[in-house]
Amino acid sequence: MDHGRTTISVVVPFYNEAAGVEAFFARLFSVADAMPDYEFDVVAVNDGSTDVTLARLLEARERHGRIHIVDLSRNFGKEAALSAGLDRARGEAVIPIDSDLQHPPELIPDMIRRWRAGAEVVLARRNDRVTDGPLQKFAAGMFYRMHNVIAETKIPPDVGDFRLMSQEVVEVLRGMPENRRFMKGLFAWVGFRSEVIPYDVAPRLEGKSRFNVWKLWNFALEGITSFSTVPLRVWTYIGAVTSLLALVYAAYIVIKTIFFGTDLPGYASLMVGVLLLGGIQLIGIGVLGEYIGRIYGEVKRRPVYVVRKEFTVER
Ligand code: UDP
Ligand code: MG
Repeated sequence: MDHGRTTISVVVPFYNEAAGVEAFFARLFSVADAMPDYEFDVVAVNDGSTDVTLARLLEARERHGRIHIVDLSRNFGKEAALSAGLDRARGEAVIPIDSDLQHPPELIPDMIRRWRAGAEVVLARRNDRVTDGPLQKFAAGMFYRMHNVIAETKIPPDVGDFRLMSQEVVEVLRGMPENRRFMKGLFAWVGFRSEVIPYDVAPRLEGKSRFNVWKLWNFALEGITSFSTVPLRVWTYIGAVTSLLALVYAAYIVIKTIFFGTDLPGYASLMVGVLLLGGIQLIGIGVLGEYIGRIYGEVKRRPVYVVRKEFTVER
């Protein structure tokens, strides 16, 4: 930290992004070099890439300096990789950004300006999900709507991990004890004075998204179960309504039998009732399982990520 310049930490997760490493740093540092009043420190997290990402990162570190590399022992997922980066981000402002150049580094000067003007968090909101297919768009829309109806912590739609946070905000995030980290939710939970700036999301530099449908579905479940107990509590009410209906039906059957005797048929209605209730009960148990699985994950208190090796910034 020389000449009292303000330090900005940029946190970047890399998972099999070898082909894009140099292009990413070229763009990032061309933005950084145009802001001589600030010193940019990069924390690059190699999230267990199976390609030559690490070698490319080391080359970039030779060429540009100011890159701190954290090499994780395996793929821990983007949320864990971000946590590893945030734990090491010492700048007065911290900016998590994707390494595939979908998040334009050119937005950074504007973010810093807003932060200087008093915002503690500056959120980048994607203008349009132009790079998403119609199904992805629909699913994302549904997720935000549903999440925000049932969860206490509302997450602003179309705001991802690309943002600027002051060191105080990151300090709070670092102190959060949970192992399973749904970053979007945690970011929203901490609060602070936020401002939003819109940006146009770019297509991926190369390759395709590291997230498939199943990963995204689990990600959505993670989000909802991390920030809401509504799916747990709703069963009390479903049970109450079902019992009430059953009681009314029971009264009807008893009265009918007293006055008209019994006429044995009823196989169809019996089957429907048994199967329907069985299904509902299984769903209820499944929801319990989702939460218990997460409690299990938390109580084990395993670390969020494991570092194989760190290459700190040379000066
Ligand atoms: N990423 C990661 N670990 C993973 C998956 C992704 O560190 O297990 C990184 C990836 O290298 C990229 C960012 O997270 O920098 C976003 O990933 P991607 O572009 O695949 O996701 P999308 O943009 O589709 O949300
Ligand atoms: Mg991407």
